[in-house]
Amino acid sequence: MTQRDNPAGMPQDVAMANAVGAGSPEDVGQSTYAASGSVRQPVGIGRKTESGDVTFPAFDDHHPPDKELIDDCVHCGFCLPTCPTYVLFGEEMDSPRGRIYLMNKGLAEEPMNDEMVRHFDLCLGCMACVTACPSGVQYDKLIEATRAQVERRYERTPEDRAFREMIFNLFPYPERLRLVSAPLRLYQRVGIRDLVRRSGLLKLMPERLRAMEELLPEVPEEERIPEVTPPLGEKRRRVGLLTGCVQRVFFSKVNAATVRVLAAEGCEVVAPEEQGCCGALSTHAGREEEALRFARRTIDVFERYELDEVIVNAAGCGSTMKEYGHLLRDDPEYAARAEAFSAKVRDVSEFLEEIGPVAERHPLPVAAAYHDACHLAHAQGIRAQPRRALGRIPGLELREIREAEICCGSAGIYNMVEPGPAAELGERKARNILDTGARLLITANPGCTLQIRASLRRMGRDIPVAHPAEVLDASIRGEPVESLMG
Ligand code: SF4
Ligand code: SF4
Repeated sequence: MTQRDNPAGMPQDVAMANAVGAGSPEDVGQSTYAASGSVRQPVGIGRKTESGDVTFPAFDDHHPPDKELIDDCVHCGFCLPTCPTYVLFGEEMDSPRGRIYLMNKGLAEEPMNDEMVRHFDLCLGCMACVTACPSGVQYDKLIEATRAQVERRYERTPEDRAFREMIFNLFPYPERLRLVSAPLRLYQRVGIRDLVRRSGLLKLMPERLRAMEELLPEVPEEERIPEVTPPLGEKRRRVGLLTGCVQRVFFSKVNAATVRVLAAEGCEVVAPEEQGCCGALSTHAGREEEALRFARRTIDVFERYELDEVIVNAAGCGSTMKEYGHLLRDDPEYAARAEAFSAKVRDVSEFLEEIGPVAERHPLPVAAAYHDACHLAHAQGIRAQPRRALGRIPGLELREIREAEICCGSAGIYNMVEPGPAAELGERKARNILDTGARLLITANPGCTLQIRASLRRMGRDIPVAHPAEVLDASIRGEPVESLMG
């Protein structure tokens, strides 16, 4: 670890406090979306320092946020205008620079307290700051390490814990999602949902449960895909497909379209039945052990097949799977295997651009807005590939969305645990989408799809949303554009 001297020779703490305009994080007011009882006491696990004093540091020794990465931040503030929480609240401590300052304070043995955790919790993990930062600060690694410390060392209220446990005992498990999808379908189809919404009953529900209800998509019949799909024409690649958890149950049509597109482009597609969650949701929430368990299992399953690449069509999953090497770096049995696995992971649009098109594209005459999912654009740097792939479709006019770099508020489980700011961001994104005048929205992440649809609905508007793979599939099969408008 290095300790940088600042030019004025000030203690590092003071220099950073000056840079962010705050004496300490506790000096900064938190007027909007304050902790509201979601956290309890200032906590920390006491330990002896070298001088023998008992202190209550925020972070323990198991991968705390890396001091060298923290010191890469030169406090320039270029990241601030792209940070959704800074845009919403205008609070320094809700900006990347402010959060990095808090991490540094935590390393300097500041206790982990309610306010500090609140500022970390409010971060969407959208990584817009990583894109914006001219100094190459790896905020992604910093917040991932910080979240794991928070989850391990911070005591949330029983209600908050229970809500998070409910999410993490349901969403990563397709079988459990299937179990709840049948009654949900009934709720939606026999008119109970409309009745509940009209009756105002939802207003009596806790905000988080209300947000979940609003986000719920129409639960479709699941379209199962074969374990092995042969290529159409000459075989160019043998690829695996991550079918996902929420994607598999609520967006099975996207998986089916992805398989057809890959097969049309000469790929044999293997979608192992026994695969489970990739661990993305758990990783982004700091549930380290759970995330590692899912990652190991995913590697085990896909290693059984001889695959050239592993294809992912959900942005959040792809970005995590590309990081398995980093996640499993301490595991002697998996570290090298994880690196090798990650090297094979490709987002579907990235892969299609790599191999180049062979299947004919038929016209889809429609003006469509393309929404960059944060975990595709910021976390994986994939912006040009989906635009290029879609740009080859005759008649399709792609329109750009203002403030494209700002998150829609979905961010994994963020729109369920932080419904207030998520709704504001969702409606801001929806307004920018409506301003394009497009008839169709295209995006590559199930979370964004749900979030934007719910935001539009709240505003009394609607635009059909499709995954790039669905659009390519419709074009390759010569389907009418109306097939995407359902
Ligand atoms: S990840 Fe997103 S919300 Fe978090 S600090 Fe960076 S830009 Fe802000
Ligand atoms: S842009 Fe980078 S260096 Fe500048 S304040 Fe933000 S994180 Fe720090």
